[in-house]
Amino acid sequence: MIIDYFATVAAFMFGAAVGSFLNVCIARWPRDLSVIRPRSRCPYCGHQLAWFENVPLVSWVALRARCRCCDEPISMQYPLVELAVALTFALCVWNFGPSLTAVRLAIFATILLGIAITDAQHYLIPDGFTVSGLFFMLATSVAGLYLGEQAPFAGPYDALVGACAGAGLIAIVGWLGEVALKREAMGMGDVTLMAFAGAALGPSRAIVAVFAGAVLGAVTFLAVVYPVARVRHADYREQTELALGGNGFVAPLVPFGVFLAPAALGTLLWGDTVLAWLLRG
Ligand SMILES: [Zn+2]
Repeated sequence: MIIDYFATVAAFMFGAAVGSFLNVCIARWPRDLSVIRPRSRCPYCGHQLAWFENVPLVSWVALRARCRCCDEPISMQYPLVELAVALTFALCVWNFGPSLTAVRLAIFATILLGIAITDAQHYLIPDGFTVSGLFFMLATSVAGLYLGEQAPFAGPYDALVGACAGAGLIAIVGWLGEVALKREAMGMGDVTLMAFAGAALGPSRAIVAVFAGAVLGAVTFLAVVYPVARVRHADYREQTELALGGNGFVAPLVPFGVFLAPAALGTLLWGDTVLAWLLRG
């Protein structure tokens, strides 16, 4: 019991450090910058952070969310991401003990979080997340086979087939969306995301994840994003008395990774239950 407690606290601290690195990936990969060099700087004044200004969670609180040099505010996104990843690692170790399964689940969830944030902010999913994630899932599926630790992840064969099924299906969905909407509906990032997620899920749950993500995205889009964009557009037209003909309305892009990422995690944890319930029918 005391060992479990100690392992969970250690996992929280390690997770906070991983979250800090995830922040660097989120900030730099969309701009094609290295995540290794240079060291972290204040985005406003370029002041290079000393080690004590770069301690996960602690520094943001100690600095009162301001740069020590120029006093500009430091985004709340940094400590929130660090906290989310720290809690994820702690929860995984608390549930599965210090095991390969805990590590795989924690890293799977961390990569999905990075994908959801970069897709929401930049409409892109860096290969750094998906390609390294795909190789990580394939390699650990082999390790899991030897250690006798597989569930809830797919075994090596299912991981390979799942990667192909996930990527293939999302490519088809994107292609149909493109035909229906007459413009690009999905990017290559969504395809590589589903290859990575499919390697964790295996083929049948990869299919469930794509449908769950598509439904989640479509509902959110039709219920929230589209009406808001319409209203904004109407306001804009009234203000500027647009008289150019045509209504000029272009529906906003949907960052599908934002919906596919939680769908993939949910399907990994509860997909078998949902599939059993559906097939019982
Ligand atoms: Zn500064």
